[in-house]
Amino acid sequence: MIRLEHVSKVYPSGTKALRDVNIEIRDGEFVFIMGRSGSGKSTLIRLLLKELEPSEGIITVNGEVLGKMRRRSIPRYRREIGVVFQNFLLLRDRNVFENVAFAQRVVGVRPVEILANVSRILELVGLSSRYKALPSQLSGGEQQRTAIARALVNCPRVLLADEPTGNLDAKTSQDIMELLDEINRQGTTVVVVTHSHEIVRKMQKRVIVLDHGQVDREIPEGSFEE
Ligand code: ADP
Repeated sequence: MIRLEHVSKVYPSGTKALRDVNIEIRDGEFVFIMGRSGSGKSTLIRLLLKELEPSEGIITVNGEVLGKMRRRSIPRYRREIGVVFQNFLLLRDRNVFENVAFAQRVVGVRPVEILANVSRILELVGLSSRYKALPSQLSGGEQQRTAIARALVNCPRVLLADEPTGNLDAKTSQDIMELLDEINRQGTTVVVVTHSHEIVRKMQKRVIVLDHGQVDREIPEGSFEE
């Protein structure tokens, strides 16, 4: 569960990026966050990752109040949230398997389990046959699948995706969205930031629209129209 209660964020420059935002996302939901450039979407994601602190308000994720979390718990907390970005952010000198396995090595998973877990997750994202490829040998869609596999391999309850299809063509974007939908059906809460009306119209999930740092409107599942 993700809950923002009266959350505001003012940057040191004075910019009010979020103003009195109230959002609740239940476990197992799939939610799109839309809004023009500068409406506060990335700020929202960074608050959820505890990369930023809100100026006001309370943020609760998976039952933990982020403002009360001890500093030493932050790495553990971040590992419980999967994140995917527009630019994939893969390690250029490691192959697909190693990019995904890395997320497990840093949390001390045993090698035999890493092999099993990475194989399973590569199967899920449809990359089993590409496990030896370097990022430079992959298409954009394959690179994003690798990033999604890395985000999921530690079994997070929540997956945050910030413009995951921003660098992909329409067909590949659709494939990635279908993958995220499948991941959601398997139980992960999925929150996707996007500009794309086309994707949101096709997917027909719940939509939260931000405008100038405020929740402008909420559109329930199945009701998005252009
Ligand atoms: P979006 O992701 O919807 O494009 P952002 O959350 O990036 O919106 O930005 C919201 C507002 O906050 C914008 O006016 C932006 O210029 C400003 N902003 C974002 N990051 C910073 C920062 N680190 N310092 C100052 N202002 C920022």
